[in-house]
Amino acid sequence: MSLVPPNRAWMKAPQASTEYLDGVISFLTFAQKKPGNDGWYCCPCVACRNVNGKKTLHEVSDHLIRLGIDETYTTWTFHGEPLPTSGIKKGIPSTSSSATPRMVDLVNDAHIDPESLDDCMD
Ligand SMILES: [Zn+2]
Repeated sequence: MSLVPPNRAWMKAPQASTEYLDGVISFLTFAQKKPGNDGWYCCPCVACRNVNGKKTLHEVSDHLIRLGIDETYTTWTFHGEPLPTSGIKKGIPSTSSSATPRMVDLVNDAHIDPESLDDCMD
């Protein structure tokens, strides 16, 4: 996957590997830097997939190490990373003048309940 930045390679590494554990730490460190961080985080593990309510950093860490991270969550939009500004070709109609199609796309792609998404994005 050439679209995945090199620093996300750990997400596909074995969970018990040093590479994966280092990656979890780098992710948690990144999440803590999110502006407006209130100590509660969406959990990107394979079970929660960011929509299972907010967790403490300790709980997120526990999930990522025990359950594994959702490998498709390569842009950490729930944790302060801006949405990509290029590279997305979803066939958005050129007639769309709205400023929000990307988020709608994201929701549709992930089959996320918009209600819980709001909870995570505030
Ligand atoms: Zn989780």
